[in-house]
Amino acid sequence: MDGNALARELRADWKIRAARLTEKGMQPGLAVVIAGDNPASRIYVRNKAKACGDTGIYSEIHEFSETASQDEVMERIQELNRNSRIHGILVQLPLPRHFESDKVIASVAVEKDVDGFHLYNVGSLVTGDAIFPPCTPHGVIKILEKYSVPIEGRQAVVVGRSNIVGKPMALMLLQRGATVTICTSKTRDLAEHTRRADILVVATGKPHMITASMVKGGATVIDVGINRMPDGKLAGDVEFESVREKAGYITPVPGGVGPVTIAMLLYNTIEAAERAYARV
Ligand code: NDP
Repeated sequence: MDGNALARELRADWKIRAARLTEKGMQPGLAVVIAGDNPASRIYVRNKAKACGDTGIYSEIHEFSETASQDEVMERIQELNRNSRIHGILVQLPLPRHFESDKVIASVAVEKDVDGFHLYNVGSLVTGDAIFPPCTPHGVIKILEKYSVPIEGRQAVVVGRSNIVGKPMALMLLQRGATVTICTSKTRDLAEHTRRADILVVATGKPHMITASMVKGGATVIDVGINRMPDGKLAGDVEFESVREKAGYITPVPGGVGPVTIAMLLYNTIEAAERAYARV
């Protein structure tokens, strides 16, 4: 499953929508707030800003040092909440250790929370009508749709229960009628569960932990993991070379879920701008 190709296709559509809004005087705008010096986060933020530029979305990066105070960052978020040029605000995670991430995320205006992490937006996902679907699991759904992978009535197994990937992923599959199992580090006999999956989504951050013997023949395997290996290369949570022989479909790392995640961030930003336009 080619995430790069799908992301290009989606972004071509988003570009047209962004241009229409810009003509009407409402160019979509995204602000990314980053604190600390996590090198991976800085790369992600740069990639997001570049993707915005390529799609005709205005973007700003608000950088804070590792020692910045939480109040300082939250004050900036309040300013961005009031800024009519900005329709989406993304707080790049993880924040430095002395931050209470929940409080910072809760300070983003609900209508600008394009990551979908605000508790109100999490609630909307639980009830089945997400205001801003979180970008990574939404990207996974787009990939499944692109390749016409049936979800309704199928066994879906999600490995990982984080708030940003595993849990929203499970909810989105549940919403579409899958029978969903969520596995964690505490699950006994993981393979017994993964081998039953028609759709297996893996988001653990443990490189190559899913091997061919853990996968049912013909299954669709979605690898969300992004792991930097000692040789500098990126690897997923799935042992790609062996699993591809057995799976019906599989996403590579890099070039699978990652680029589609960024496309879905652009989608949420444009949605936010369209809603802002409808309000004026
Ligand atoms: P977290 O560390 O927050 O969560 C990892 C989850 O995996 C936890 O729920 C943990 O269980 C579970 N887990 C860990 N080891 C095992 C195991 N051996 N068996 C079963 N479950 C296990 O990670 P994230 O969800 O934030 O990210 C997961 C991966 O996805 C990372 O590699 C990250 O870089 C990548 N990622 C990729 C994105 C993309 O755009 N492609 C976007 C976001 C993340 P427990 O809760 O019990 O500890």
